Amino acid sequence: MPGNSRKRILILGGGFAGLDTALSLERIFSKDKNVDITLVNQNNYFVYTPMLAEVVGSSIDAKHAVCPIREFFNKVSFKELDVKSIDLRNRVVNCFHCNICNINLNLQYDYLVIALGSITSFHNTPGAEEYSFPLKNVNDAKVLRSHVIDMFEHAELETDPDKRRRFLTFVVAGGGYTGVEVAAELNDFIHKSRKFYRNVLPDEVKVIIVDHGSRIMHEMSESLASYGERLLRQRGMEIYLKTGVTNVTQDRVEFDSGKIVPTMTVIWAAGTAPHPVVESLPFAKDKGGRIQVNEYLEVSDWPNVWAIGDCAHIPNPETGNPYPPTAQHAVREGRRLAYNIEAAIIGKEKKPFQYMTEGMLAPLGHRSAVAEIKGFKFSGFFAWFLWRTIYLAKLPGLDRKLRVALDWALDLFFPRDIVQLKIVRRVTKTPDSH
Ligand SMILES: Cc1cc2nc3c(=O)[nH]c(=O)nc-3n(C[C@H](O)[C@H](O)[C@H](O)COP(=O)(O)OP(=O)(O)OC[C@H]3O[C@@H](n4cnc5c(N)ncnc54)[C@H](O)[C@@H]3O)c2cc1C
Repeated sequence: MPGNSRKRILILGGGFAGLDTALSLERIFSKDKNVDITLVNQNNYFVYTPMLAEVVGSSIDAKHAVCPIREFFNKVSFKELDVKSIDLRNRVVNCFHCNICNINLNLQYDYLVIALGSITSFHNTPGAEEYSFPLKNVNDAKVLRSHVIDMFEHAELETDPDKRRRFLTFVVAGGGYTGVEVAAELNDFIHKSRKFYRNVLPDEVKVIIVDHGSRIMHEMSESLASYGERLLRQRGMEIYLKTGVTNVTQDRVEFDSGKIVPTMTVIWAAGTAPHPVVESLPFAKDKGGRIQVNEYLEVSDWPNVWAIGDCAHIPNPETGNPYPPTAQHAVREGRRLAYNIEAAIIGKEKKPFQYMTEGMLAPLGHRSAVAEIKGFKFSGFFAWFLWRTIYLAKLPGLDRKLRVALDWALDLFFPRDIVQLKIVRRVTKTPDSH
C-alpha cells in the first residue's frame, strides 16, 4: 500500500448493499492492519425484506427474517448508530445512539460508502402516513400482523354487519411485487385462520389491491402479471387498476374514481422516497432523489465517496436506464464496490459495475408463484418451489436458514399462529414528511 497512513472506510447502512460491501471488504483486508472498516446501522440486525410478507402472514417468526449483524464479522467494527448528517468537507459523519443515554459520535472517514436505502413515500396522500400501514422493516411487519389479528378479534365480537365488514376488509395500496406478496400472504393467513373465528363468514372477508398502473407486478412480464392477476381474482381478491388512493382515514379509504371502501386496514406499498440524510447532501440526484454515481459507483466531484443500493442511481451501460432498486442488485453492487475501494487504496484499476438481472420471483399464496429466470417463465407450484429454494439459499447464516425451513415445515402441518401481541404503530408526523 502506498504511504503508511491508516485508511478508514466507513459504511453507512447495514442492508443488502452495505452488508455485502462490508463482507467483501472483510475478506479483502482480513490481514491488513492498516485498513479500518466500520459499518454503521440503526439496528443491530440485517432485515431480509423478501420474507417480511411471510412475517405478516405468520408463516415465519419475525426474528427469523432478521440476522444479527455482529455475527458476520471479525475485522469489521459494527456500531449501532443512527446517522444524522454527513459533513463532506471535513469527512465526518455525525451519529446518535438512543434517547436515554444521548450518545453523539462523530466518525471520521477516508472512504465513505452511502447505502442508507430509501423510506416509504406516501405521495402527500391525506391521512396515508397517519392511518396506513407501511411495510419496510420488521417492526412494520409485526405491527401489521398484530393489527390483522386484532381485526378478527373485533369482528368475532361485533354484531353490526357494516362494522364487521369494515374490520374484515383489507386494502393494499400498490400492486408491485411487494404489494402482491403481502396481499397473497394475508389472503392465505385469513383463510387458514378463519376457522378459529366461528362468527366470521367466508364472504365477509375481503382483500383488495389498488394500483395506478394498468396491471399489477409491473416489474414482471405482461403474461406472468396477467396470470397472477387472474389467479388472485379467482381466489376472491378484488383488484382495481388505473386507480389511485386519494384519502385514508382510520375507518375508510377513498379512490380517485370516487369509490369509498370502509376499512380499518390500508397497507401502503405504493412507493419510496429518498432517505432524509441523502436528501440533504449536495450531490447530483435523479428525479426520484437518488444519488447519481458513475459506472464505478463513485459520486462525481466527491473523491472517495460512493453510493449504492436503493439510494443510488447507477447507470446500466446496456440500456442507459438506472439499475432497478432490488436486493439482488444491491448485493452485486456491494461486491463490486468493495473491489473498487481496494483498487482506490492500493492503486489498481477500478472495474465498472455491470450486471444482468437474473430474474424476478413473486409468491402468490396457496403454494403458487410466478418466476422469470434468465428469460424462462414459470408459474404455479413449481415457481413457488423455486421461490422458496432460492430465497432460502440467499438468506444469510446457516442458523437462520434452518429456522425458516423449520417454520415452513411446521406450516405444512399446523395452523398459523394467531397470538396477538398487541404491538401498535406510533407515527411521529414531521412537517416535511413525504
Ligand atoms: C417488503 C419488501 C419486500 C421486498 N422483496 C424483494 C424481493 O423479493 N426481491 C428483491 O430483489 N428485492 C425486494 N425488495 C427490495 C429490497 O429490499 C431493496 O431493494 C434492498 O433492501 C435495497 O438494499 P439497500 O441496502 O439499498 O437498502 P436497505 O436494505 O433498506 O438497507 C438500508 C439500511 O440502512 C439502515 N438505515 C437507514 N437509515 C439509517 C440511519 N439514519 N442510520 C443508520 N442506519 C440507517 C436501515 O436500517 C437498513 O439496514 C423488497 C423490499 C420490501 C420493503
